[in-house]
Amino acid sequence: FERRIFNFSAGPSTVPEEVLKQAQAELLNWHGLGTSVMEISHRSKDFMAVYEEVLHDLRTLMNIPDSYEILLLQGGGIGQNAGIPMNLMALGKNGPKADFLVTGIWSEKSRQEAEKYGVAHLVASSATEQFNTIPARDSWDLSDDAAYLHYCSNETIGGVEFPDTPEVGDRLLVADISSNILSKEMDISKGAVWFGGAQKNIGPSGVTIVVVRKDLLGHSMKITPSIWDWGKQAANQSMVNTPPTFSIYMAGLGFKWLLKQGGVKVIEQRNQEKANLLYDFIDQSTLYENRVNKVYRSRMNATFFLRDESLNDAFLSQSKAAGLLALRGHKAAGGMRASIYNAMPLEGVIALVEFMRDFERRA
Ligand code: PMP
Repeated sequence: FERRIFNFSAGPSTVPEEVLKQAQAELLNWHGLGTSVMEISHRSKDFMAVYEEVLHDLRTLMNIPDSYEILLLQGGGIGQNAGIPMNLMALGKNGPKADFLVTGIWSEKSRQEAEKYGVAHLVASSATEQFNTIPARDSWDLSDDAAYLHYCSNETIGGVEFPDTPEVGDRLLVADISSNILSKEMDISKGAVWFGGAQKNIGPSGVTIVVVRKDLLGHSMKITPSIWDWGKQAANQSMVNTPPTFSIYMAGLGFKWLLKQGGVKVIEQRNQEKANLLYDFIDQSTLYENRVNKVYRSRMNATFFLRDESLNDAFLSQSKAAGLLALRGHKAAGGMRASIYNAMPLEGVIALVEFMRDFERRA
């Protein structure tokens, strides 16, 4: 290809061209220092200025109250599947326990990891519905003695998203926002912990964001490794070990880009528009189908199937040749998936729909 393609990868995923160009322009000589940002000490005043600005911009974009700490960690969402229980489960009234709402592969993975640290109680699951929906609120078996309720606000593999933050009274809510962070407005005060990696809606992989209510720091289990201990990380500016400085710098460029677009409110409308375009096309088609309960369809990961699955390989090879990359669904789900995160322009979705229409005509 002579040009940039449209990349529908679920993560790592497309980064705005402007951001890549700025990183390229600054790579050899950053801020006139005669070195790149990746080559300087994380404790230097120049890097600390980047770090403080990243925190400031993220706080602005997500509208994070001062009563919440922002940690920039490593290890991804998978790391936090262990980190969260180690830091919070001890708050269970009758010993370490947490509730899990299972709406897909990611929330189930979180539940299984937590079992190593205490009781990981299944509140409800949509497994018998092939994870194509969210269990009805009145079917949730919430415990009275659990430390918190964990849920996944957007299931990246199934393409199932909570339209709103669940109402759970004064229970502590832990939200896996790996695949919809910064894609729409979220009322941070409704949750105790919000976490996710940067590699979908922000920039390259390597940095994991954990937003946690400050009063919840300091309850970690004795066994907690120092790098997973939120209280220790908070006391050390997330630098208990050497942080992923280049990923943090890239996330910072991503935040500046999003601010320039007009922030989360503006990108939310654009994301809705992109998703509507794609789902409306799929719904009128006789070749493609989306199987997710309409009210829970993800605006980030649009999953779809070809009714004639013998056409799958042709669909994938021809779409790739047309400059539409990474449309194969996750192997656990099959079919196709178009991930249309913040950095995917409307033109990319238009190009995808045009290709799908043309492919259907020829099929
Ligand atoms: N949760 C969700 C919803 C995800 O999509 C992912 C990654 N695809 C993870 C957790 C795991 O994140 P990581 O790979 O950053 O550890």
